[in-house]
Amino acid sequence: MSRSAHPAGPRHADVLTEGHYSAPAADLNALDEKVWSRTVTRDADGALTVGGIAVARLAEEFGTPAYFLDESDFRARCRAWADAFGPDADVFYAGKAFLSRAVVRWLKEEGLNLDVCSGGELATALDAGMPAERIAFHGNNKTVAEIERAVEAGVGRIVLDSFQEIVRVAHVARRHGVRQRVQIRVTVGVEAHTHEFIATAHEDQKFGIALADGQAAEAVRRALALDGLDLIGVHSHIGSQIFDMAGFEVSARRVVQLLAEIRDEHGVELPEIDLGGGLGIAYTSEDDPREPHEIAKALSDIVTRECEAAKLRTPRISVEPGRAIVGPTAFTLYEVGTIKPLEGLRTYVSVDGGMSDNIRTALYDAEYSVALVSRTSDAEPMLVRVVGKHCESGDIVVKDAFLPADLAPGDLIAVPATGAYCRSMASNYNHALRPPVVAVRDGEARVIVRRETEEDLLRLDVG
Ligand SMILES: *Cc1c(COP(=O)(O)O)cnc(C)c1O
Repeated sequence: MSRSAHPAGPRHADVLTEGHYSAPAADLNALDEKVWSRTVTRDADGALTVGGIAVARLAEEFGTPAYFLDESDFRARCRAWADAFGPDADVFYAGKAFLSRAVVRWLKEEGLNLDVCSGGELATALDAGMPAERIAFHGNNKTVAEIERAVEAGVGRIVLDSFQEIVRVAHVARRHGVRQRVQIRVTVGVEAHTHEFIATAHEDQKFGIALADGQAAEAVRRALALDGLDLIGVHSHIGSQIFDMAGFEVSARRVVQLLAEIRDEHGVELPEIDLGGGLGIAYTSEDDPREPHEIAKALSDIVTRECEAAKLRTPRISVEPGRAIVGPTAFTLYEVGTIKPLEGLRTYVSVDGGMSDNIRTALYDAEYSVALVSRTSDAEPMLVRVVGKHCESGDIVVKDAFLPADLAPGDLIAVPATGAYCRSMASNYNHALRPPVVAVRDGEARVIVRRETEEDLLRLDVG
């Protein structure tokens, strides 16, 4: 990403010493469609609307902070992924990005499958009626109780992540008198982040079983030998917020190579490979994500080519986008509380939420955009840092951005692309009440996850 260190024109620009920010957009009122969900627009009064409803009305009815999820956009993205991969592949939505009963129902209706990685996610999926055979169960340390529950429910696949787990799942399956469909998660020695990837000889991480040193081949040997397991394929997940397909290329090549080795050693061609998720979205105008059909074509070309070279039948491919489906479909709405101009530095804008509703900036140095949404403004751009109300100086929501210089307490501002890993990672730090998720569609808004109350907090406190 190219960032200009000294944007032209903004207040304070002459004395800026640090920060990674782009020049302010020519028009701060413009809403870049890359970062906002599809039905977002401004009405005649200049207020942002989603699903046809103005933010002032949403704030009045549901309060702030709150996440507003554009349901028709979510459904359209599900369909785009399903259509792009077609009937010969499977799309699993990664539930950890954001999961609720309503989301499970939308996925079910739009023909997607679902990844879960904990008992809680599994319970939510089953409760909302996702057929168990459309659920994949992940995780590097599933408890025996979680494995029991998954096998009992009849989940479509369990992704085995360690040698211990191969034995545990086989044991549970035998006790239930079933053969559990499983994949083995392999670590292919590729690590991908945003615009680059690193191919290494071995992996220093907790997930998966390394291809290096024949570990994965040994895991396959053991899984094939246990009658409680039906080994259907190999799984690889290389990172997140990835734009560069080169990492997938290396990963697919190594996975296909393993399939060829399995065929040579055991005489079986495993029918499936899963290439994981991790596809990037636009958090700022500088990000250029690929469309699902481009991703589908790229992945299928790579796998087909590698399989031809290895003289293997092309396996069924599955992918697991989480962020790429739900991330762009929601924004967080905040009310501006205090404004502190620090002369020569920047202006701190405090909102009524913070790291409890969006930990990604503090955790990963994530970048976000922000806009004044309760009105438009022709004031000059001012360099801001949007911060929360928590007792941490690292409580930053948007590190560097521009808002109009006439910003005032009571204005509503919104941070787009907060659909993934915000509500799902939300905390009660400082006894914050986690915000609601409100689904908006065709002029109607309804709460799908309600706001926490002080009563909810006190109910857990049984001292
Ligand atoms: C996190 C995860 C995903 C989803 O990642 P996104 O970046 O949200 O697409 C998919 N598969 C596995 C195994 C994961 O751990």
